[in-house]
Amino acid sequence: MKRMSLVAVSALLAMTLSALSGLAVPAYAQSKLHVVATTTQAADAVRVVGGALVELSALMGAGVDPHLYKPTESDIAAMNQAQMVVYSGLHLEGQFDQVFKALSERGITIYALAQPVLDGGYVMDAVGSAGTHDPHFWFDPRNWQLAILGLAEALGKVDPANAAAYKANATAYAEQLDRLFAWATQAMNAIPAAQRTLITSHDAFQYFATAFGWKVEAIQGISTAAEASVADVQAIAAYIIANKIPVIFVESSVPKTTINAVIEAVRAGGSEVRLGLRELYSDAMGAPDEFGGTYIGMFAHNVATIVRSFGVELPAWPDRLMPALPGELLKYPLQLPFSMRGGVGD
Ligand SMILES: [Zn+2]
Repeated sequence: MKRMSLVAVSALLAMTLSALSGLAVPAYAQSKLHVVATTTQAADAVRVVGGALVELSALMGAGVDPHLYKPTESDIAAMNQAQMVVYSGLHLEGQFDQVFKALSERGITIYALAQPVLDGGYVMDAVGSAGTHDPHFWFDPRNWQLAILGLAEALGKVDPANAAAYKANATAYAEQLDRLFAWATQAMNAIPAAQRTLITSHDAFQYFATAFGWKVEAIQGISTAAEASVADVQAIAAYIIANKIPVIFVESSVPKTTINAVIEAVRAGGSEVRLGLRELYSDAMGAPDEFGGTYIGMFAHNVATIVRSFGVELPAWPDRLMPALPGELLKYPLQLPFSMRGGVGD
């Protein structure tokens, strides 16, 4: 299946290339640098660093899974007309390899945001699969800082006239990320040390947990649509009980019967666990006009959701950190409304 789809993409690219060969616009004719970004995070990075100097085309929308996303014909056309393509990297955009190769042979700059993180030695192995890179590097704000500063340099190479402006934008934003990281660290440290485990159905949160000295446990078997085995359920229930973890985070795609089985198993063991107040953002952010549609907003949403789900107050939002945290995330009731008690019949 995978091989077929790559062949199909290559064929599509060849077709599009020949269709566009007569339409190439010389770079000097464009007033702004034309940049294409793959993921929602990459698009936000280009907006932050490029500002009004860049004309941005964003390929993936809110809620799109970048691991599975295949470039469409119009995506390929957009990339063909761009001067630069910015992507996340570490094989997050698994379906783009062939297209990137063809584009870079045509002289279009293809830039991976992960590159300075990889060069710095901060890339982690994927959970349970040593030797394979975990692509979710952006969940450590210090990694995102490296990515942003690297992007400014890369933009400056393609557009040297504006290199100083890109650098200034990136440097100012890096300070915002410092404030975000300080706030998030204070927030995450408010959870009792013994309970600092993020239990989730995603494999995306390893960098996030590690950034704050937390552990991460994936819920085996719950991460897919398939029902978890009795052994999977017992294993995670035993972990929750042994470590007195009060809350777990799961996606709406996880069958309710499986979630209820975990909660039942924990209760049968004489303990109690509840679901997180909201879903966490993982591989895609929200829409650009939502709070979760920026990197800072997405990150703050996750921290606020985790900390409030543990039943702990958030620290005050830093004065000079934008966008400001919406009141609904700060003032969420500590009496958790989204307990699964009703779901298991008591
Ligand atoms: Zn992922």
